[in-house]
Amino acid sequence: MDFKKYIQIVENYPKEGIRFKDITTLMQDGAAYKAAIDEMAAFGKDKEVDVVVGPEARGFVVGCPIAYTLEAGFVPVRKAGKLPREVISVDYGLEYGKDSLTIHKDAIQKGQRVLIADDLLATGGTIEATVKMVEELGGVVVGIAFMIELGYLDGRARLDQYDLFSLMTYN
Ligand code: AMP
Repeated sequence: MDFKKYIQIVENYPKEGIRFKDITTLMQDGAAYKAAIDEMAAFGKDKEVDVVVGPEARGFVVGCPIAYTLEAGFVPVRKAGKLPREVISVDYGLEYGKDSLTIHKDAIQKGQRVLIADDLLATGGTIEATVKMVEELGGVVVGIAFMIELGYLDGRARLDQYDLFSLMTYN
């Protein structure tokens, strides 16, 4: 399937110079959303995934259906102050900003096999922070799946020791 035709590119959003890739137009098409999730889940199929980890909010949109397909658990990574119980946290940089991410301290057991999923790889800051927390909890990152990779930002270089998959790449 030509997934790119379902993505809308919004110039200068949320600020000047950013070409925002809007995945909501893919999600709103049932066949395209299902095909995209099926391909991303196929990447995780033989990896014996115990849990899928996805950062809010678009990491939920891709991570939850992948977890369901793989019959794995789902663990949310959220911005500071959003998770109700004890968390660990890490600071990270974005293509357009800075923030801190958190995960519940008891969300991953030592040795569990983790697939990380997100909508888009830009600088890689979000996923690098997510990997850090997963590994701090003793999880083993067996793969990282993106719907979209921005090749020109080279986030892949920051994650080169991991098995990466992206459904679409923009250069
Ligand atoms: P990064 O940490 O730089 O890899 O950015 C990751 C997150 O920021 C992605 O999961 C997206 O949700 C969002 N993001 C960054 N750049 C873009 C973009 N050009 N279009 C859409 N979303 C973006």
